[in-house]
Amino acid sequence: MKYLEEFQNPELARRLLEDIRATVTRPWALMEVCGGQTHTIIRHGIDQLLPEGLELIHGPGCPVCVTPLEVIDKALEIASRPDVIFCSFGDMLRVPGSDRDLFRVRSEGGDVRVVYSPLDALKIARQNPERQVVFFGIGFETTAPPNAMTVYQARKHGIRNFSLLVSHVRVPPAIEAIMQSPDCRVQGFLAAGHVCSVMGTGEYPELAERFRVPIVVTGFEPLDILEGIRRTVRQLERGEHMVDNAYRRAVRDEGNAAARAMLDDVFETTDRAWRGIGVIPQSGWRLSERYREFDAEHRFQVGSITTCEPAACRSGEVLQGLLKPDQCEAFGTVCTPRTPLGATMVSSEGACAAYYLYRRLGAPAAPAAAMEASPVA
Ligand code: SF4
Repeated sequence: MKYLEEFQNPELARRLLEDIRATVTRPWALMEVCGGQTHTIIRHGIDQLLPEGLELIHGPGCPVCVTPLEVIDKALEIASRPDVIFCSFGDMLRVPGSDRDLFRVRSEGGDVRVVYSPLDALKIARQNPERQVVFFGIGFETTAPPNAMTVYQARKHGIRNFSLLVSHVRVPPAIEAIMQSPDCRVQGFLAAGHVCSVMGTGEYPELAERFRVPIVVTGFEPLDILEGIRRTVRQLERGEHMVDNAYRRAVRDEGNAAARAMLDDVFETTDRAWRGIGVIPQSGWRLSERYREFDAEHRFQVGSITTCEPAACRSGEVLQGLLKPDQCEAFGTVCTPRTPLGATMVSSEGACAAYYLYRRLGAPAAPAAAMEASPVA
């Protein structure tokens, strides 16, 4: 498949690994920001092929994982109402709230529907004018533009029975928070390529300069990851700290102008809580004043719900790169993908799920994952 298979070539992977080994002279710790990159790394064993001392720290870039428990509970509360059709992508249905998940709400009679696009939810709203239709809008800069477009369309066409439960987050403030943490060990970043394909690279030079940290825009196939690592360690070994775009087939420096304009129109930045991490200033988006009537949180008056995380779950440390999933006492015992204690185990992009699926346990991996998993070199 074009743009996929040529970036999985074992011979090229071997050469990149040799180059990395020849470049590295001392220990370095790099963070891959995105959960999709974490899965590629664990699935192909890339971290185990790197020279000793070159560590990959798994970052907080899994949208399901960082969605706060409060927001899940608000979704459950809204979805339980008899007048509501609650629409969501499928991966949110199993995320545990304080006492149940959206699957449970559905089994109890709630009208919870899996959709493949927020525009599908808008279509349902058109077809059911007597019901309230809510779409669960979570994620990073990648999922925000279609959600913004849907709210824009709802307003334009006067579809007032549609609303968005919004919990969008932004990557650059998270990088800033990670670098400001007293426990931070990160010396270089593999930035998430798909985020940059929307937002461009303009927010990163200031961060690279202020924290003297290389930031390399990186894709998602094994060769993309290895090339991102190679460019990052090359900078570190030279004492450089620049923004470098190693994903030029998808990312332009200015990003996607139309998507950014839509985001600027519909959303405004706000402080946002990240699950397991806490509030990061200006790290989220909410609907701007012009579109506030489409905010489900206001429409259904669920702003006051507060929660407590399960004490055994250490996903906050996992999300900050302070703990590897298999160092959590609950990993693979009381916490598995079938019985997840935290979102990093339930999400298909979560680091704990990646460790469970691809190895790091001693227990048999899930059959499909085991069949697919194959090292690149
Ligand atoms: S293994 Fe489970 S309990 Fe431990 S941090 Fe991950 S999600 Fe939380």
